[in-house]
Amino acid sequence: MKKIIGMMLSGVMAAALVTGCGATDIATGNSNSKIASDTLSDGVLTVGTNAEFPPFEYVGDDGQPDGFDMALIKAVGEELGVEVVVENMEFDSLVSSIGSKTDVAIAGMTVTEERKQSVDFSEPYYNAVQHVLVPKDSPIAAYDDLIGKTIGVQLGTTGDFIVEEIEGATDQQYNKAVDAVNDLVNGRLDAVIVDSNPAGVFASKYPDQIKDLNGEDFGFGIEEYAIALPKGDTALKEAIDVAITNMKEDGTFDKLVDEYME
Ligand code: GLN
Repeated sequence: MKKIIGMMLSGVMAAALVTGCGATDIATGNSNSKIASDTLSDGVLTVGTNAEFPPFEYVGDDGQPDGFDMALIKAVGEELGVEVVVENMEFDSLVSSIGSKTDVAIAGMTVTEERKQSVDFSEPYYNAVQHVLVPKDSPIAAYDDLIGKTIGVQLGTTGDFIVEEIEGATDQQYNKAVDAVNDLVNGRLDAVIVDSNPAGVFASKYPDQIKDLNGEDFGFGIEEYAIALPKGDTALKEAIDVAITNMKEDGTFDKLVDEYME
């Protein structure tokens, strides 16, 4: 019953977002988008990502960004009736590119108060926590063990922000988390702090050299991933939120989880 009411509500919300687009279309020549958002008026959703964060985004065998987030945003685009064009860029540039180079960003991006100053976020779609990768024989097991250590992170990530706060630690920033992992394997770092799912993927490549420690044991909090959106475009936010809710209700979302998560 509850579910039926939820579905009815999202149906009403979706209906409310459909504009009287016939007239608009004739005026602008645009056809695809049925959503009352300027961002979508050209029928294209330009999406920023950083395809260095498996299983959420990585470069596929065909050289194109692939992964859970890519599949999710393409499904959102289908629901919205717009073409999705992906721009692969540095993680640290994603937020500032929204509204100029890109319309939105999806990149396993954690909702933070600081980012909320510049962008809005969709409803969260996934929970994560930072993990600590260490050499197999490392004694590191708790937060205090990180004090004074050299720790690799991806620039501009929540892992980077955590390391900035660790007393005496050297915050070794990389453009790609995988480069930090390589330096860990080569003995140049004491630890790498990176999100749970990518940590699992990276650690599984070096089962004899790396231990993957859950950051909850270090006191790191749960983080929520969401799609970053242009500030103030409430029509776009509502449309994307409805699309995600629909996908969660009709099983599409779980199918993607099964397909992409280990
Ligand atoms: N979730 C982390 C953040 O938002 C890392 C994301 C990433 O590296 N793609 O900062």
